[in-house]
Amino acid sequence: MNRTPDTVFADIHNILMKYLQIPSFSNTAEERRVDDFFADFFSAQSYFQTHSNHFGKYPVQKDALQRHVHWGLRQGEGSKTVVLIHHYDVVDIDNFQDKKEFAFNPPLLQEKLKMDFDRLDVDATADLKSGEWLFGRGTADMKSGGAIQLALLQKYASVRSFTGNVIVLALPDEENLSSGMRSAVSLLKTLKDKYTLDYVLMINSEPHQRFSKNLGVLSQGSIGKANMFVYVKGALTHVGKIFEGLNPNSLLAKIVWETEVDLDFLDICGDEASVPPTWIYMKDRKRNYDVSTPFASVGYLNVLNFFSTPDDLLTKLKKKCENAIAGIQKKMNVAHAEFERKNGRTPAPLSWTLRVLTFSELYKIVLSEHGQSFEAMFAQASNKLSKKFQDREIDLLEMNNLLVEFLLDIHSDPNPYIVIGFAPPFYPGVTNYQSASLAAQCCDLHKLIDDFTSKKWHQHYHNRHYYTGISDLSYSTLNYDKESTESLISNMPLWGDLYSIPFGDIGEISMPCVNIGPWGKDFHKMTERVLKEDVFARTPAIIEHVIDSTLKG
Ligand SMILES: [Zn+2]
Repeated sequence: MNRTPDTVFADIHNILMKYLQIPSFSNTAEERRVDDFFADFFSAQSYFQTHSNHFGKYPVQKDALQRHVHWGLRQGEGSKTVVLIHHYDVVDIDNFQDKKEFAFNPPLLQEKLKMDFDRLDVDATADLKSGEWLFGRGTADMKSGGAIQLALLQKYASVRSFTGNVIVLALPDEENLSSGMRSAVSLLKTLKDKYTLDYVLMINSEPHQRFSKNLGVLSQGSIGKANMFVYVKGALTHVGKIFEGLNPNSLLAKIVWETEVDLDFLDICGDEASVPPTWIYMKDRKRNYDVSTPFASVGYLNVLNFFSTPDDLLTKLKKKCENAIAGIQKKMNVAHAEFERKNGRTPAPLSWTLRVLTFSELYKIVLSEHGQSFEAMFAQASNKLSKKFQDREIDLLEMNNLLVEFLLDIHSDPNPYIVIGFAPPFYPGVTNYQSASLAAQCCDLHKLIDDFTSKKWHQHYHNRHYYTGISDLSYSTLNYDKESTESLISNMPLWGDLYSIPFGDIGEISMPCVNIGPWGKDFHKMTERVLKEDVFARTPAIIEHVIDSTLKG
């Protein structure tokens, strides 16, 4: 059957209602529940019945949860290929309180929410009353975008002749470590070689937020994200002898204070600024109560950036740590001198020294102390911890902390010091504007979309260089030189079997990217919702227009 606009919109509805009902919670075995949904989806279409090697499930590499990337390829005339991506994992529903059982059933959830207007804000109340929005977990983020892509693939698969090629990738784990997309890069490389494909555009369909009703937003890039750790090794002392040691809590607190929402970390691109950094974790390493200061403290700083390289970020953070050290040293010396005078003694300056090392600097020092045998020791420690992580005995951050401590334990320096580096996940910032060759690969997407929407609906689209919600588009192209990549790898203790980014394959499949998704609100909240008109009419029409123009242009 050929699919008219009306059947496509009905298809989106049918697909979405089934897709939404699957509670594919991120980073759980529940994500595998989509396997049957995709088996049904592909097996029902005659194109895929006769082209059984044009779809499949590709295993996520070294995944303890055994999840898959589900993919389908509509192969047509020529080599030009558009890749559509979306993630099928959703965040948990803990914040749905007494409405958990309705989280995946929009009609029922809406009915229940209407009985509880007191708990909704003004905007959610108005949207609920209007009937124009679809409420529920995964409606905005992002099964609607997924349903649009699948309905379009179904449409392209139903026509007799087709110009170009379209691939849809349905990905797990986006809300966690993006292990789906990091594996899918290798799948794209394989498909490219097997079918001689020329990748010209990657389209993601994450929801977008709006400031006004008739101004949509498209993004030709995606913000970068780094998870930076600061490990402070103090000098343990009895609390009654505080000036004989260094409390790592006070130093880490000072570093946190100096860097939280620190605008020095912002990247500016035209009239867009990246998001200021924030600390997502801050703890000391003491296991039990005693009357000593802790031996160490550790914190994790979330840095969202556009184009800063790993080295740029390390340099900035190192400087901030050095400033904090100077501040703490001054405070300690002033307090110590005054304390000594009050006790009738003549003060002498405190003598400890402190330095900041990157993880790779520390690694090299320990390697020179212990020789080649150290590398095998480190790999062994890493494997042991990896097993504990796979068995869910420790989380990723604890594994990182323990690996840093493994180095500290065998390093001979007794002085306090700070170690900084990266923990997973890492999302490179990408934009079509980062290189002339990337921009030349695609047409003027903003003009293409804005002309289309303004003519059709008198609705305009604003162009952003970066999608700031963090997305899998970060792995659509390679934006770092070799040194930056190496610097990231050598400063990430967990880099290896457990976590890696296929930079080589990304270089091979590199293509421009764009996010075109429906208008959504309150992502991850109980009132998560998406605008029906976008899901069932406008967004699919825009994406179809972009695909047509790209493949035929
Ligand atoms: Zn999302």
